[in-house]
Amino acid sequence: MTMPDLLNRPLRCMIDGQWHAAAGGATIPVTNPSTGEVFAQAAAGGAADIDGAVSAARRAFESGPWSRMPPAGRQRLLWRLAELIDAHADELALLEVLNTGKPLRIARMFDVGLSAECLRYNAGWATKLQGATRDVSLPGNWHAYTLREPVGVAGLIVPWNVPLPMAVGKIAPALAAGCTVVLKPAELTPLTAVRLGELIVEAGFPPGVVNIVTGLGSSAGQALVDHPGVDKISFTGSTAVGQRILASAAGNLKRLSLELGGKSPVFIFPDADLDRATDAAARGIFANSGQVCAAGSRLFVHRAVADRVFEGIAERARRLRVAPGLAPDAEMGPLISARQRERVLAYIESGRAQGAELLAGGAALDGPGFFVQPTVMVNTRADMTMVCEEIFGPVLSTFVFDDEESVEQLAARGNDSAYGLSASIWTRDLGRAHRLVRKIRSGVVRVNAAVAPDFAMPFGGVKLSGWGRENGREGVESYTELKSVAMDLG
Ligand code: NAP
Ligand code: MG
Repeated sequence: MTMPDLLNRPLRCMIDGQWHAAAGGATIPVTNPSTGEVFAQAAAGGAADIDGAVSAARRAFESGPWSRMPPAGRQRLLWRLAELIDAHADELALLEVLNTGKPLRIARMFDVGLSAECLRYNAGWATKLQGATRDVSLPGNWHAYTLREPVGVAGLIVPWNVPLPMAVGKIAPALAAGCTVVLKPAELTPLTAVRLGELIVEAGFPPGVVNIVTGLGSSAGQALVDHPGVDKISFTGSTAVGQRILASAAGNLKRLSLELGGKSPVFIFPDADLDRATDAAARGIFANSGQVCAAGSRLFVHRAVADRVFEGIAERARRLRVAPGLAPDAEMGPLISARQRERVLAYIESGRAQGAELLAGGAALDGPGFFVQPTVMVNTRADMTMVCEEIFGPVLSTFVFDDEESVEQLAARGNDSAYGLSASIWTRDLGRAHRLVRKIRSGVVRVNAAVAPDFAMPFGGVKLSGWGRENGREGVESYTELKSVAMDLG
């Protein structure tokens, strides 16, 4: 396999259409989690780089070609970028596999395929955003209307679990709305962000419209959040950092979108299609090695079918081929880092110490990579640390419910979490499904289906899972302000 050409170039920051090393010259190592090897160095951008990027974005927004570009121009550029992503899909997928360890087939279909689709979906919104005329009741003759305008310079901060879809998922709606942006990728996964920057230049976006500063959250990320020239921050990551960003953004009252953690419940009733439900529950916790904010990490199954479902998932866990992302038959890759592996193993240990038992997995795999077995635990209780906290790994907690439990009682068990991102319900009883949907406190619910992203469907959480919604009209509109205009016609 030929290595992507990007690895022969220095990985730098893109500021005002130019590539720069970090102002201080520092770099951060890039590790392949399948092997534990450092194979590249990326620029460790800091406050000076962020300041340059924000100034460039401000100029492009206020006075550059972007400020004069008609919506159809933005639409065409976004579409062109989607085509460039398609044209470089194999290369982007390989970069993502080297940087995250995920299976190549999945990176190609899911991460890269969805990124191109996200751009096409949002391209369409560029020409469809609109204000409205309003019929006011003031005395006299009035022409009154609203204008939907871009919020300005948006700072976009993303995590490492699905780096390319995360970056594109924020850039696309922000640009469709007419904003300019500064992207701060996760320190662990800068590769596809840098390649995306090159493709953005190739697509013909004017300089300064998209700026990319790789670096640490504590320096580059914090500088972006603190910068008075930034109008909005869209952040995906941990709840702890989200809370910190909320405090930092108070200075100039930045608009905030926060997509944070989750501990999502899955409910399986005995009348469900149990094979499909079992498959989906397994995929819902093992996909991307469990490093998914909407992972179904708390499984509630009716007593009549609980053993069958738990054993079915454990069986799938034992059969799952855990291997480096480039192994042809890999189904699940490693965790992102040694630190993340230690964290996940510590949660499993804490569960066992508090009385939970392993039905499958539970250990790290030998070898240099950061692999952990897909893990199913039984006898888990709501008060256990591994049940209360987000693990962000392939570890399932399981619970049994009984006929005597009402929909309200079951919903209360599902809602017994600080988070409220998503939920899945498996039953053929429509009334029960819809009653439970209404009682669940989360931003996303699926019935007889796993939580799969669709750009038309708003995505986001309640409680500690965050603020705001991405995707759909709401996602693009979150990068806009509404201006209320009225003119006395005399
Ligand atoms: P994280 O530490 O919160 O990092 C997310 C991003 O924020 C990274 O780019 C990070 O930089 C940056 N950051 C860290 N400290 C910062 C600060 N003080 N100011 C500004 N930016 C800062 O999360 P993670 O460890 O990368 O990802 C795992 C977590 O993200 C999990 O809890 C998961 O649930 C959540 N997540 C949520 C969603 C969702 O859609 N709701 C999706 C994916 C992940 P560094 O890379 O240098 O830390
Ligand atoms: Mg972090």
